[in-house]
Amino acid sequence: MMLLTKKMIEIRNMLQKVGQSSTLTLPSIVVIGSQSSGKSSVLEAIVGHEFLPKGSNMVTRRPIELTLVNTPDSTAEYGEFPDLGLRRITDFSSIQRTLTELNMAVPDSECVSDDPIHLTVYSPHVPDLSLIDLPGYIQVVGKNQPLELKQKISELCDKYIQPPNVILAISAADVDLANSTSLRASRRVDPRGERTIGVITKMDLVDASRGAAILGDKQYPLRLGYVGVVSRAPQTTGLFRTGPSNLMSAISKNENAFFSAHPLEFGEGSGANVGTTTLRKKLMTVLEQTMSASLQSTSDAIKQELEEATYEFKVQYNDRPLSAESYLAESLDAFKHSFKQFTEEFGRAQMHEILKRELDQKVFDLLAARYWNKPISDLSPARPEPDSLADLPRADPNSLYWRRQLDASTSALTKLGVGRLGTTVVASSIQAQIDRLIGKSVFASHPFARQAITEAASTILNERFYSTSDQVENSIKPYKFDIDIDEREWGKGREHAGVLLKKELQDCETALKGIEGAVGGRRKLKEVMNFVDKARKGDIVVEGDGHSGAGGFSAALLAKGREAAFLRDRADIIKMRMMAVKSKQCANLTNKYYCPEVFLDAVATKLASTAVLFLNVELLSEFYYNFPRELDLRLGRHLSDEEVEKFAKEDPKIRKHLEVIRRKELLELVLEKMESLRQLEGRERTQDQAA
Ligand code: GDP
Repeated sequence: MMLLTKKMIEIRNMLQKVGQSSTLTLPSIVVIGSQSSGKSSVLEAIVGHEFLPKGSNMVTRRPIELTLVNTPDSTAEYGEFPDLGLRRITDFSSIQRTLTELNMAVPDSECVSDDPIHLTVYSPHVPDLSLIDLPGYIQVVGKNQPLELKQKISELCDKYIQPPNVILAISAADVDLANSTSLRASRRVDPRGERTIGVITKMDLVDASRGAAILGDKQYPLRLGYVGVVSRAPQTTGLFRTGPSNLMSAISKNENAFFSAHPLEFGEGSGANVGTTTLRKKLMTVLEQTMSASLQSTSDAIKQELEEATYEFKVQYNDRPLSAESYLAESLDAFKHSFKQFTEEFGRAQMHEILKRELDQKVFDLLAARYWNKPISDLSPARPEPDSLADLPRADPNSLYWRRQLDASTSALTKLGVGRLGTTVVASSIQAQIDRLIGKSVFASHPFARQAITEAASTILNERFYSTSDQVENSIKPYKFDIDIDEREWGKGREHAGVLLKKELQDCETALKGIEGAVGGRRKLKEVMNFVDKARKGDIVVEGDGHSGAGGFSAALLAKGREAAFLRDRADIIKMRMMAVKSKQCANLTNKYYCPEVFLDAVATKLASTAVLFLNVELLSEFYYNFPRELDLRLGRHLSDEEVEKFAKEDPKIRKHLEVIRRKELLELVLEKMESLRQLEGRERTQDQAA
């Protein structure tokens, strides 16, 4: 018979996981009583251990949902706090300390909280029971307690003493039943006394005849009756110390001694129900009956709940199955697929382009420093100087000066650290591409996975960095001593240099336009530039420290003017160089000293091509091979179930989807269990009838 309660308690715990819906509860026994009525003593007598918080200052502040699990095949006795992950606590004084801490964590100003503490006790000596201990009713509000405390406790208790719960109303024998707060509370919600068990404690404190009269009370008749107990363990001395483990037998010995001393009032035939053992049995029977009675209504409620979950699953999620693992696996597959596509689009040509763009910039810096840095006035034929830009058209292949210029520029280019530069730009480009892939994938909304993928990429790239830089640097080493350009390379360099110069010119002009806008128009800018030009030539003397401004222009305006003059001069030079590159003189290699733009471009291309060969082997291929494996390592089987679950739930949409499925599955499971229970119960009933 008792199997039913055990199973029902299991189901009750499962239902607690489903959610807070009040219709989905199976009955429990709710213990109420005023402070000091002996409530704790009764509960501890049932459990056989001292484990409840003790003290005068409102020690029970939260409901304690206590599940007792009978373990007939084991002698071990222990408690567990499932919410806290605390398992197998065999020391009951440690359970007591934890309960005290949990209760005391509720601040004095609030005093009570309706957030329940879940505690499960396993023992061969306890029956399968589900009990809820509540804060005791108080008569007077203490000094540091809120005035509305009485009200708060009463409201909290009212919440729990609703049907289908059974009420265990504790009253002390030495207090008039008419004054029992617990019975009064129970009558409010159970006026016909159908689901209340009366417990009269401290039977030893009143006359046996008076005690017997209370138990047979007619004024507050309860269908489930009254049980009298003496649940305090006898006071122990050092000699007869009663350890907590035999609390149960100590109490029952004490009780037996007391009740059997009054056979007339409490003996067999007296009709009185007395003793903790009797109470325990009664609780089992009553809970079992109540549970079995609510089997039907609860399973109806679950069915309805299940229908709603099923409907939601269908309408919102199209019956699409999903699990945290499958979600992760699919997301990872999709990501790897997009990575595969990327590997097909990003190869040597793309690396070459990236690196060449960087080298183009370096070439322009060199040109600016070595060739284009002459004052514009030097361009005038009136002031020819041997090393002036104007002299460049005549750059004689036999002139040592022009040879040195080009050699130094070429040398600077080959020695700028192409290994490190190439590795850096390619690695950061790969990293940026991976970021882009993440952004387009479902991982975009998963910070954890996002980080894992980014780290997977950077780990590989960092590991390869130094050896790749070295290899690339070695590969271009010969060019540092000697570099040969053929006519075909020259032709391509010439074409490309033209394009670059044109682009540079456009950039200069755009920047000039920008300054024009910033200073308030072309005329204004002209005025400032004129002033700047004159000052530069020494035609006028600029006074001031250069910050406060001169010539009626503010310092900021003068700065703009200088910038604009520089850009204008640069644009003039670029125009001149564009013409030079296009001219016949630059058509072939023979005039290479006259066309450094073309020569250096061809050198840069050569450097980039060679570097890319090695970047491809040392960095890109390695990355393409290792990255998917690194992803598996970080996001694959190595994650724990909790981590996978946490990952999936980072996305609110997925979280909701998973929750609906989980709820549905749990409800289905519960329903299945309940159906089999009903069959079991049905069989037992027929057997009982047959017997
Ligand atoms: P609670 O505040 O309702 O939990 O009450 P307790 O269980 O802490 O008991 C209050 C006091 O009454 C304690 O001093 C207990 O030792 C005492 N007490 C509890 N049950 C009995 C009993 O059956 N007989 C006697 N004489 N004292 C009891």
